[in-house]
Amino acid sequence: MKLKIILLIGLLAIIAACYVAFTSRMPHAEASEALVSQTAKPTPTDTFSDVNYDSLRLKIVNEFPIARPGKWGEFVKGVDEDIDTNSKIIAFTFDACGTKYGDEYNAALISYLRLEHIPATLFFTGLWIDANPDTFRVLAHDSLFEIENHGFEHRPCAVCGETEYGIRGTLNVGEAFDEIERNNRKIKKVTGRRPIFFRSATAFCDEECVKVAGQLGVTIISYDILSGDAVAGTPAKEIANNILKGARDGAIVIMHMNHPKWNALSALRIAIPELRKRGFQFVKLEHHRLKGRY
Ligand SMILES: [Zn+2]
Repeated sequence: MKLKIILLIGLLAIIAACYVAFTSRMPHAEASEALVSQTAKPTPTDTFSDVNYDSLRLKIVNEFPIARPGKWGEFVKGVDEDIDTNSKIIAFTFDACGTKYGDEYNAALISYLRLEHIPATLFFTGLWIDANPDTFRVLAHDSLFEIENHGFEHRPCAVCGETEYGIRGTLNVGEAFDEIERNNRKIKKVTGRRPIFFRSATAFCDEECVKVAGQLGVTIISYDILSGDAVAGTPAKEIANNILKGARDGAIVIMHMNHPKWNALSALRIAIPELRKRGFQFVKLEHHRLKGRY
C-alpha cells in the first residue's frame, strides 16, 4: 500500500514537472517567433516602381540641377565589369539591342545555353521586347536566365548627348532617367522583378548617368571580356579566342543574342568546352558582389 502511494506521488510529480516545463516553454517559443519576425527581411517593397513615374522623374531631375557629365567611356567611375571573386566562375551576358541594331532572336543560341545548362544574364531594350513580346515572356520565366535592362530606346546613357558608334546618347538627366526607368518598369510588368543592372547602349555612359542609375537602385554594367561578336562577319574562332584569352575568375563576357547570322553560337561551341576543361563554372550576375576598375 505504502509502495502504491509512493508510486502515485511520483507519477503526479512527473506530470506536474512536465506541465511546468511545457508552459514555461511557451513564452520562449513565442519570443523566438517574435524575434524571427523582427529580424526577418520585410517583404521587398519596390520603392521605385511603385512611385508615380512623373513624380520620381521630377525628384531625380531636381537632384541634378547642373549637368556634370564627368568622364565618358565604358569604364567610368561607378560602373562594374567583374565579379569580385577568387572562384573559377565566368558570367556570360547577352544583349538584345532592338531596331536597326538588331531586333532578331538568336533562338539557336538560347537553345544551346539551355541544352548545356549555362546560366546567363540577358540585357533587353524596350524596343526588342516590343518586337518579340512572346519570346520575351518565355525567357522572362526561364530561371536559367537573369533579365536585366539595356535601355528603353537603346541610347547611350548621357546627360549631355554624347554620341558613340553613331548612336546619340540621351540629352539630359530627364532623358537618362527615361532610358533606365521606363524599361525597368516595362520589364518588371512581365517578370515581376525590377532589374538591378543596366547596360547602356554601346556600353558607354558618363559619370553623372552612373549616379542617376544609382538613385534608381540600379548598377551600370560594362564588361571584362569583349567577345567581338558584334562586328558582323567576325569568325567564330576569333570570338572564341577573345573569350578564352580573357577568361579569368569573375570575368563578365559581353555578347549578343539578337543577331542569328553573327557567329556567337559557333564561338560558344568552341569556347564553352575549353572553359569547362579549365574548371570554370558559369553564373548569372545577380547574387554576386561586383566590382569595377574605378
Ligand atoms: Zn546594344
